[in-house]
This record gives sequence, structure tokens and C-alpha cells, in this order.
Amino acid sequence: MELIFEISKKGKKGFSLPTRDVPEASSLPGKYLRNGDTGLPELSEPEVVRHFTNLSRMNFGVDSHFYPLGSCTMKYNPKFLEKIAQLECFSSVHPLQPQLIKGGILTQGSLEVIYNLENLLSEITGMDAFTTQPMAGAHGELTGVMLMAAYHRHKGNKRKYILIPDSGHGTNPASAAIAGYEIKTVKSNEKGVLDMIELKKALSEETAGLMITCPNTLGIFEPAIKEISDLVHGVGALMYYDGANMNAILGKARPGDLGFDIVHLNLHKTFATPHGGGGPGAGPVGVKKELEEFLPTSRVVKRKDGTFFLEYDKPLSIGYISQFYGNYSVLLKAYAYILLLGKEGLIEVSENAVLNANYIKARLKAHYEIPCPDGCLHEFVISARKQAEKGVHAIDIAKALIDRGIHPPTVYFPLNVKEAIMIEPTETESRETLDRFIAIMIELAELAEKDPESFKAFPRTTPVGRLDEVKAAKDMDLAYL
Ligand SMILES: *Cc1c(COP(=O)(O)O)cnc(C)c1O
Repeated sequence: MELIFEISKKGKKGFSLPTRDVPEASSLPGKYLRNGDTGLPELSEPEVVRHFTNLSRMNFGVDSHFYPLGSCTMKYNPKFLEKIAQLECFSSVHPLQPQLIKGGILTQGSLEVIYNLENLLSEITGMDAFTTQPMAGAHGELTGVMLMAAYHRHKGNKRKYILIPDSGHGTNPASAAIAGYEIKTVKSNEKGVLDMIELKKALSEETAGLMITCPNTLGIFEPAIKEISDLVHGVGALMYYDGANMNAILGKARPGDLGFDIVHLNLHKTFATPHGGGGPGAGPVGVKKELEEFLPTSRVVKRKDGTFFLEYDKPLSIGYISQFYGNYSVLLKAYAYILLLGKEGLIEVSENAVLNANYIKARLKAHYEIPCPDGCLHEFVISARKQAEKGVHAIDIAKALIDRGIHPPTVYFPLNVKEAIMIEPTETESRETLDRFIAIMIELAELAEKDPESFKAFPRTTPVGRLDEVKAAKDMDLAYL
């Protein structure tokens, strides 16, 4: 066998093994030299890799577990989209690079993606214009309410209140308050939808707008949405659509056609970006024509010759809401997802999401109390009230699910249902997964009857067992367990 190179100063074929080039300590000026050990942990690569791999295995994620976390749309996100987001032509572009130079196109493609995405989202929601700048749902809400405020200010109106249903997401009142408004809560009726008498009582010339999720957090489409929007517009107020539940109506209904003036979407819920843990998201905001001039700058505009540029000359704009154009990779994934699925695919998303939710709901009916027992859209709420009488609360059922390899649904939300367990299976789950979940939920309902005490020991499969929630929130040492 012929050696390719020898271990010698000069190899047979001119190769020699490189030696490590470590600077001599004495070659550094004395004042930079350390006297003792740095005290940094010394770990080998396999030790570090094992540590983080084991940590990741202790976690629940959509790629590893069923994750029916109501309100959050934890669906599987195709890995193909991650590849698109990593394409160098997008990932290596700097936002300050010139948009167009003679003989080159530079950031034209990146601008075209934003332009096209804004138009596709407008089409999907029935709005006239979009901004992609906001970086989360709540950030979109804040942007939307600021647009509302700019609109009313421009008209010279002094308006003080934003109305929010009691089933609304907690971020709604927070966003409205940060934008300078006072909140009026509107009660839902026993059917889980907005109470029209309460709405009429709350509405006045001082109302700036109504923020509402449709379908609402109980998974119910507001049957009187047209009447609601007429009443709100009747006092000169605006309709705000919290689009976090868009997965339920994709391709079926458009907020713009239902009378809404402003919408935000959660691209990280509906349009294929994994989320959780505060990761990058995007909450683009769409508006009707009369609000377009207030949208954040800059705006991507298409010239007659087909080139794109960023327009800053918008005197009525609320200004920047984030640096540059938002979370670009999230926008890119949403754009690719929409192109991948097309119109038919988007319709299938909502149809299957709704079918999966109704399937589980119908099969759990005999075992749990269901406050709104009729059909639902993409999610629904059951109550553990019956089980609570035996001492088994919603939180106990959630903990038991962890042991059975299922991420717990959202519990104790919405606030208008006692012992609420909010289930959203999403469209990406198989019949087998749904059946397994149903079987486990039935098993737990039976266990609550037979042996309620046993729930106190769940979860058994986590390293620390049952956490003391208050202590976990206050005592940072627990984070190292
Ligand atoms: C998730 C959610 C929000 C907030 O979105 P973030 O991206 O988490 O800020 C707002 N409203 C509803 C109904 C939601 O489900």
C-alpha cells in the first residue's frame, strides 16, 4: 500500500502534516497575561452535544408529540420551507444593500417577495393593503390599534374606548391599553357569542373600535358578525379582526367581506413558522383603503417598469413599528407556504382543521361537560367541572396527559368557562393520532371517577414530577433542574 504522505518535515509528495500554531505566552504584552485559571467549564464536544440533545429530548414539540394547544395552532410546519428560508440569495442580503444598481438587481427579489406576500395576504383576507413589519400577533394588534388611533385623530375625533369581548385573548386589552385606550369588556351570552344587548349598551360616540376574534376562542363563528359590524360602524368606530384563528376560515370567509377594517395575522400560527418559546414570528397587519395612508413606513412600491423600491414619503404614516421590514425569514416561509398549497390547499387546511376538531369534540361529548355542545370550527372548549367534583381539576388532567406523551391543551382559558380545557388539533394530525388522544381522554375521565387521588402523582415521567407552579415562577434555581 502506498502512503499518501509521510509524517516528516517534508512529505514524499510534498505534503506535510500541519502543526498547531499556538502563540508563545511570552509574545503577548505582560498586562494581557492571566495569572490563574479562568474558571470556565472545560467540556469536550461530545459532552456538550449530549447535554443539549438530552435537554431537547425533555421537551415537547410538534416534531415529537401531539400538541393540541388551543388558540395556538401548533401545526406541523413542512421542512421544505426551512430550506427556502436558508437560500443564500435571501439569507445573505443586508437590508441596507442598495435596492437597484445599474446593470444589477441586488435586493429587487427580496422586495418582490414582500410585495407579492402583501398582495396574497390582502387577497386571503379581503383587505386592500398590508404591512409586514410587526413581529408577533400582539405587535400586530398594537400596530392595528395605533392605526385606529391615527385614523380617528386625523378625523378630529376624540375617542376613548376599545370594546373587547370577555372571551378575547389577553393580548387584546394589553395592546389597546399600550396604544392609549381604555378598555370596555363586552359579555358573551350563554351560547358563547357576543351578547348584542351588552354590545349596544357599551357602544357610543366615544368608542374607537371593537377588537374581536372570529371564530372566537370557543371555536364559534359569531353568527351576528354583519349586524355587529353595522352597529360598530354606525357610531363611527372601526372593526378590528384578531386573525390568530385564521386557520379556521382560510379560503372560506374573508374578514374584509365581513366588515372588518383592520386585521392582523399570525404567520407563525397559520402560515407555517414553528413557534413557542418566544421564537421569531410575524404579525402582518392589513387594512381597508381608508386606513392605508397611516400604515408604517417604508412601503414596498412597484414601478411601471416592473422594478420595486421602498417609499418613505408618507406624511400620515405612524412611522416605523420595527426595524426594516419585519422578520424576513418568517415572511419568506409564509410566501413559500402559500405558493406551495395554492388556493385548493389553503381551503383543505381549514376544512381538515375543522373536521379534526369536530371529530374529537363529538367523541368526548359523553365523557366531559361541553359548554357549547354544537359544532365548532378549528378548536373547542370542554370543561372538567364534572371531574372537579371528584377533586380532579383541569390542571390534573393536563399533567396526566404529559405522562401519556401528549402536550396538554390550553387550560383555564377562555376565562368565561370554568375548568376550561381548550383543544385545537390542527389539520396536520392523522386519524390514528386523534383516536389515541380520544382514548386517553376517555381513560382519564374514567380514572377520575374510580381513583381521583391518583392524579396527584402526575406527571411521573418528568425529571421533577409535579411542579409547584408558584415556586417555579419565582424560584430561578428550579430552572437548572
Ligand atoms: C396567539 C394569539 C394572539 C397573540 O399572538 P402572539 O404572536 O403570541 O403575540 C392574539 N390573539 C389570539 C386569539 C391568539 O391566539
